Amino acid sequence: MAAIVFNSVSKHFRQGGFFFSRRKPKLTYALQSLSLSVARGEVLSLLGPNGSGKSTTLKLIATVLLPDQGTVLVNGSDTRTDELGVRRQVGLALSSERSFFPRLTARENLGFFAALENIAGPECQDRVDSVLERVGLIEEADKQVMKLSSGLYQRLGIARALIKNPPVLLLDEPTRSLDPGAASRIWTLIGWLADSGITMVVATHNFQEAISISNRVAVVERGRLLGIQSVAHCHAQQLQSYYLELTGKPEPVSCGEGIPA
Ligand code: ADP
Ligand code: MG
Repeated sequence: MAAIVFNSVSKHFRQGGFFFSRRKPKLTYALQSLSLSVARGEVLSLLGPNGSGKSTTLKLIATVLLPDQGTVLVNGSDTRTDELGVRRQVGLALSSERSFFPRLTARENLGFFAALENIAGPECQDRVDSVLERVGLIEEADKQVMKLSSGLYQRLGIARALIKNPPVLLLDEPTRSLDPGAASRIWTLIGWLADSGITMVVATHNFQEAISISNRVAVVERGRLLGIQSVAHCHAQQLQSYYLELTGKPEPVSCGEGIPA
């Protein structure tokens, strides 16, 4: 059985158009009849321009959003009918995460989020320490979160997603705005997590990242799946060509011919 299955999933957002306003609501189609499946233990990267539906896809797996049409299954459980069952299996780390308590330490923050997952007592301490170890934050465990670098902060977000030991991990742009060294340490961490058998879906804009961490990439645009392919033995340049072929090459920039010097 596949770990994650999308069957013709559509999701739209309605903006404006309150009952007292004459304006009609504006509908944004974030996903349109998207079908794909992710095998157990696989790492799938989602590539696509801004606004193409990558984050929406992750939120639908994590039950932060529910589909308007179609079904999303996680290890056979339907996100609509077994929301809690799915939530137990899925950890989500968003790049825009700002929900940690800045004056508490990394360990204290994770203790708090473990308690929210009903992990308490000595088991809580063990779990927090093992997760800190796993993401390479054990040395920084007693630092206040506001003193962590961006790279360490991203790791803490991944640690939080791992606290319930989920078989499925979702990462939204895990290396956004990180320097190359910090980014490559996150890729190594993702590699270790993949080796431990976790199924992952990662939204990214970085071709090198997609190649380094994934088994396959899915290219999405305007909520539609344009293509999905294995990246074994693939170079970043080849992936870029594949991506541009599917999404359309960017318009050449005009140099303003005829403008007097
Ligand atoms: P991506 O992560 O690929 O940049 P998103 O999944 O965030 O794209 O968004 C897909 C589309 O859905 C975009 O047009 C975005 O503006 C819209 N969208 C996403 N979330 C909301 C929301 N909460 N309310 C209204 N529109 C949204
Ligand atoms: Mg996004």
